[in-house]
Amino acid sequence: MAIKITDECINCGACEPECPNNAIYEGGVEWAIADGTSVKGAFTLLDGSSLDANHKNAPVSNDTYYITPNKCTECQGFHEEPQCAAVCPVDCCVPDELYVETVEQLMSKKEKLHL
Ligand code: SF4
Ligand code: SF4
Repeated sequence: MAIKITDECINCGACEPECPNNAIYEGGVEWAIADGTSVKGAFTLLDGSSLDANHKNAPVSNDTYYITPNKCTECQGFHEEPQCAAVCPVDCCVPDELYVETVEQLMSKKEKLHL
């Protein structure tokens, strides 16, 4: 299951550098698959659509830091627990019920991001 940031986020920025997949962005900043990953060329998103890894996508949130579920692996393959949740001072990094994934699916996502 991907992690999401709720609107209780106080924009402290502590989580962003901790993410091994560069899945966390400041509010209002566009995200791309290629940021902080080894992906080049065409990439298929969770919704089945395909885009170039360098394509800049609209921010998920303009007001608070956000996580793109296309890059969040719940830190599988890197850490024992989600690092954003571990460092967040207000505990607003929580499981995103819209993106229920098994450990195997999360590991597969990790392998796709870091070839
Ligand atoms: S759970 Fe891990 S991979 Fe997902 S956003 Fe948080 S730090 Fe990044
Ligand atoms: S650590 Fe928590 S409060 Fe700080 S920016 Fe990240 S989600 Fe927001």
